[in-house]
Amino acid sequence: MESTLARKLFEAGARSRNPSLFQQYEYLKSTEWLSRQELDKIQLENTVKLLEFAQCNSPYYKKVFEDAGFNTRQFSKLSDLNFLPELDKATLIVENSRIHTSGIAEKVRLAETSGTSGEALAFYRNERWDSLNRAAMMRSYDWYGVKPWDRNGYLWGYNTNSLQTAKVKILDYIQNRFRLFNYSNSEIRKFCHKLLDASFISGYSSMVYEVAKCVNELDLGPIPLKMVKGTSEMILDVYHEETVRAFGGRIISEYGAAESGLIAFECPYGGIHVNIENVVLEEAENGGLLVTNLCSYSFPIIRYRLGDMVTLSDDSCKCGRKHPLIKDICGRKGANVQGVTSKFPALTFYYVFKNLALEKDIFLNYKAIQQNKGEVEILIEGNDNNRYLKEINEQLQKYFGEDVNFSIIFVDRFAIDMKKRQYFETSL
Ligand SMILES: [Zn+2]
Repeated sequence: MESTLARKLFEAGARSRNPSLFQQYEYLKSTEWLSRQELDKIQLENTVKLLEFAQCNSPYYKKVFEDAGFNTRQFSKLSDLNFLPELDKATLIVENSRIHTSGIAEKVRLAETSGTSGEALAFYRNERWDSLNRAAMMRSYDWYGVKPWDRNGYLWGYNTNSLQTAKVKILDYIQNRFRLFNYSNSEIRKFCHKLLDASFISGYSSMVYEVAKCVNELDLGPIPLKMVKGTSEMILDVYHEETVRAFGGRIISEYGAAESGLIAFECPYGGIHVNIENVVLEEAENGGLLVTNLCSYSFPIIRYRLGDMVTLSDDSCKCGRKHPLIKDICGRKGANVQGVTSKFPALTFYYVFKNLALEKDIFLNYKAIQQNKGEVEILIEGNDNNRYLKEINEQLQKYFGEDVNFSIIFVDRFAIDMKKRQYFETSL
């Protein structure tokens, strides 16, 4: 689609759905280069506002604050949030109607999340919440010279029902994007042809990687893009080599969830910057991330346990922005690996393969499968390689000792899924 038309369509959509979008965007542009001190001040003010609103307008929080002896008028620093209990997804579902606030003057829209595991959650999102979220994304896209209405390739699962497919095609057209409907060579060729006049690609990082690999194997590239964005999944180190070759860039990380909004976005210098104007992040005592969504007025999300293991960082970024950084996002804690005598978090595999990349310069695509206690099969994509085998075993030994017996199997390539990838599967 021609870019003026694409922009007009985007603006028309925004006018009806997100009337405050451009205003919020201008606001976030005005805070982009503030000092850390100024940003901290904004974050604290926004936190107080949300807490006060929740206390007055949400029956659930009114009670929770009362029970905790928590008084928003005495709230003076973020660490005071510690007085409040954590919130989990089960509570968002069970207490759904009591968490919702009354007294919202804005338009609200229903949002639904299914998630790969666990029950569905539905809640109403107020216009400012949605708009601030989109505005934060627009600000981050600017770092790459990309506008949301630019033509783009989109790698995401979709419903195969034909009516749904027709709907998807119309929505994709309006949003100036196109997607891959299967991984056959002819579809990939078509998709790549369209990528030639696109400015970015986004989707599940494992899918972006698969497409990049095909581009390289079929010799269709390089197809230089302004931005290669991975969402919603761990980004393995092995992915970057293929995307750099195919699209001229590493997969950058966009981190967020429906409940939390956009939490962080990676800048061209590799800094994963937290949207400090819109969220508060805390590292929970037993690991895992707690998020407070400062825009969530219709359905306040306060100290919500997202389930991701995330490491925050005190470093500063070379780009000059003072928004705090996330050092590492290693995904959900996930199911446990059952050893003969102990249990290990599935996330351990993340560290095993991270170490191999960082220390040994070995980049591997993997999948671990457990069917029996004390035994795990690890599939590695690629040809048999004794050096890899030795290094993988050394790393596994370091974390699992003798408690788990591993069989490592090299496979030519993984079957491609048009959905979020599971790095560890267990039938126990
Ligand atoms: Zn940066």
